[in-house]
Amino acid sequence: MSSSLEIGRIMGIPVRMHWTIIFIVLFIAWSFANTSQATSSIIYGFGGVEPAEVRWLFSLLLALILFACVALHELGHSYIALRNGIGIKSITLYFFGGVAAMEEIPRNPSLELKMAFAGPAVSGILGLIFLLAGRETVSYLGISHPLSIMLSNLGLMNLILMAFNLLPAFPMDGGRLLRAWFAFHMPYVKATRRASDIGKIFATLMFLLGLASLNFMLLFVAFFVYVGASEEEKATEISISLEGITVRDIMSSPVESISPDMTLDELKELMFRDKHRGYPVMESGKLQGMVTITDLQKVAPERRAGTRVGEVMARELYLIAPEDEAATAMKTMNELQIRRLPVMDGGGLVGILSREDLVRAIELCRERVH
Ligand SMILES: [Zn+2]
Repeated sequence: MSSSLEIGRIMGIPVRMHWTIIFIVLFIAWSFANTSQATSSIIYGFGGVEPAEVRWLFSLLLALILFACVALHELGHSYIALRNGIGIKSITLYFFGGVAAMEEIPRNPSLELKMAFAGPAVSGILGLIFLLAGRETVSYLGISHPLSIMLSNLGLMNLILMAFNLLPAFPMDGGRLLRAWFAFHMPYVKATRRASDIGKIFATLMFLLGLASLNFMLLFVAFFVYVGASEEEKATEISISLEGITVRDIMSSPVESISPDMTLDELKELMFRDKHRGYPVMESGKLQGMVTITDLQKVAPERRAGTRVGEVMARELYLIAPEDEAATAMKTMNELQIRRLPVMDGGGLVGILSREDLVRAIELCRERVH
């Protein structure tokens, strides 16, 4: 998460900005400063505006307001989510739009329909407001005034944003609308698979169109949609197959723990013998840390006899309880990029949940949803 920066909080939700946005804001400003196409009612771009300082100032302003509009689009989704009791951990603005990290994606088609629709609706309303304001400004200041250009261009861009997000492909809102629509008539996993198949067909068409026209942006979006569709399908399948399964059902127990005084040579022997890649470290009945094969590998072989587990183990621990949902544990592991979590019950260590335990559980449970 270090690649994004928190820029503020709205409705209690931290809004983060991915660092690539700086380049995109500059790129958008640059393209608006270098474009000028006129029709009878609108001028696209500030290319004809003089002097250059004014041209660049308005181009930059337009790019910044556009990103505020993307943020409002995301807040539209979040507002409906919050009102229906779904937590939003954060909103991250990327260069192609935003992503609201929901604590859980609702498995309720009518709610998903409302949530997916809220974002494009915000963009559509913003688009109309800017277009109307632009028309007013034109009648006072004329069509070529930078303010007229900015307002009407913002109006168009918001309408394009709306249309783009309504493409029936994950992770676009249109993909979610489509899934919700299917989910009224069939099981959720099947609905997701069908919506994701349509997304992939779309991505392929976009890719071919991009190749034919040598449009780099289109190729990029096609790739993004294809990956997004596959990931959404996988994530839904996993979270559904783990439904109702708790950490207790799949954790490894009893656990073998080791003492912080053990040397790394002894630890290596133990790992070879047990074929375990990590151990909890206990001292007088209390969990002190976790040590894994990665910690061991950080120490040169000739220094391992003189180094103790207590010196290399991870002391910052994320704990889970046996009654926690397996799907939650998996999310925690993915977010924190860790492979095993100690399972604590009333202050005592009762088990270890490793990524291998989860993978095994997912494979076994997947049979239930097919
Ligand atoms: Zn959206």
